[in-house]
Amino acid sequence: MDSPDTAVRIHPAVDNGIAPEAPDFAGGTLTCLCATDPVQVEIKGQVAHNHICGCTKCWKPAGTLFSQVAVVSRDNLRVVANGDKLQPVDTTAAIVRHACRECGVHMYGRIENTAHPFFGLDFVHAERSSQSGWAAPTFAAFVSSIIESGARPENMGAVRARLNEIGLPPYDCLSPPLMDAISTHVAKAKGIL
Ligand SMILES: [Zn+2]
Ligand SMILES: [Zn+2]
Repeated sequence: MDSPDTAVRIHPAVDNGIAPEAPDFAGGTLTCLCATDPVQVEIKGQVAHNHICGCTKCWKPAGTLFSQVAVVSRDNLRVVANGDKLQPVDTTAAIVRHACRECGVHMYGRIENTAHPFFGLDFVHAERSSQSGWAAPTFAAFVSSIIESGARPENMGAVRARLNEIGLPPYDCLSPPLMDAISTHVAKAKGIL
């Protein structure tokens, strides 16, 4: 009798091993899923803080509960083709994600609030590029939120165990260094630091 497939799937970029980062990576071009006239976004240089995210806002490939998302300086991101197909997903969100209106892929998310701790950074999905050598994901953020996308609460132990197994410590917000960076920004803004 065949046993049921009980493997926990996280994201195609990590399920079968995480691709190594290339030193001196020059960047690449992100392409949406449209077969014709795809939106293309050029990124100069390497991304930072690449991670797996379980929040309900980030774009995810079909059939996955997690997204893979990283940041890049907004000065290093340029829409190079079919930008007329981009539209903002939610202009009231802290990160305004710009999606292809035909295929739905988020091509970049931008912070417009200059007081935001991450102002100056754009959020991108490096997997939409054919280049290899992008910075590897190093943690999983907002893991508990996948329940809001339909994950079974009783499976969360297995999900967290799998994330630890593949070297992506699971957090239910951002990683401690990023949470510290946010609080440092807030404390400085309040004059506490
Ligand atoms: Zn598209
Ligand atoms: Zn997210």
